[in-house]
Amino acid sequence: MKTLIFSTQDYERPFFETLNKDHGHDLTYIEAQLTADTASLARDHACVCVFVNDTLDAETIELLAEEGVKLIALRSAGFNHVDLEAAGEHGLKVVRVPAYSPHAVAEHTLCLMMALNRKVHRAYNRVREGNFALNGLMGFDVHGKTVGIIGTGKIGECVAEILKGFGCRLLGFDVAKNPDCEKLGMEYTDLDTLFKASDIVTLHCPLTPDTEHLIDEQAIGKMKKGVQIVNTSRGGVVDTSAVIQALKSEKIGSLGLDVYEEEGDFFFRNLSDKVIQDDQLARLLTFPNVIVTGHQAFFTHEALHAIVETTLANIRQVEKDGECENEVFAEKLVKPDSES
Ligand code: NAD
Repeated sequence: MKTLIFSTQDYERPFFETLNKDHGHDLTYIEAQLTADTASLARDHACVCVFVNDTLDAETIELLAEEGVKLIALRSAGFNHVDLEAAGEHGLKVVRVPAYSPHAVAEHTLCLMMALNRKVHRAYNRVREGNFALNGLMGFDVHGKTVGIIGTGKIGECVAEILKGFGCRLLGFDVAKNPDCEKLGMEYTDLDTLFKASDIVTLHCPLTPDTEHLIDEQAIGKMKKGVQIVNTSRGGVVDTSAVIQALKSEKIGSLGLDVYEEEGDFFFRNLSDKVIQDDQLARLLTFPNVIVTGHQAFFTHEALHAIVETTLANIRQVEKDGECENEVFAEKLVKPDSES
């Protein structure tokens, strides 16, 4: 199928070129992000392939439809940034990659937890300056600690498996229990109990109206002083102003973010010679006990291979059969959102 790939990154192209040999799609790569302003680039393409920070609001979708686009192939699992109702109204199908490597995201989550706990980011800089002093680098044993996992689907389960190996007590909160997590010894609780009891709170739920700003001032107020919070799910699950206040008051002991509410303007780009205009992001980057990574939790060789292969297979399935097992429909969506 004639496909325009928006927001192409250098690291994706070799995967597309190699794996497309078996699919034979007519692929065009562009670096531009999809927005209402760039939608016209899709003229004469039956398919646009997009990533998490491309804009897929009603206006952009209408413009894509006018250009003849029939299919939106998401290179992501999350689809909260797509106005699925608008896609349905304009007869555009939307397909996604439901699972690629939950291990990649889970392992990055643990990477943030451990780096923050043992202050690896600070130790790295110190030692390079010839400063081998340990003051300020003390961590805690993860063994025996209570970890609250919010969202116990594919990624939450992988996180639970790893943390079981560390010897943690696992608390879980989800709208549906995962029997495999229960087998690992996870105790499902209500949110309040999880907040009160957890030394570490880690987020693995989708962004929906129910989870938007789930971690807000009230929720943080219920947590232990010095709690560690890690978010590798979606930025909007955390109220950034609330966590900044709680970092300042030292209620939050450390914070790991791979996603950020307003990441669309920043992530996946080299802005190192620009002044960051977002004061909240800039403030977050000043805390010694905060690590922000730029939505890289998924970023392993295995995950990228799976994302590209499933994307190409999705496009082929729609081309051949007019439907696809990985299609997403408006009724599954709770609310479109500007974030990934
Ligand atoms: P999943 O669908 O397997 O699991 C999500 C879980 O969240 C499900 O068990 C679901 O029941 C639960 N859930 C839904 N609503 C909830 C609510 N209101 N409260 C609590 N739990 C709720 O998804 P997954 O593949 O495990 O992905 C989890 C999250 O990770 C998603 O937000 C996804 O977008 C994000 N993600 C991030 C990256 C990254 O690179 N940072 C990569 C992939 C996925």
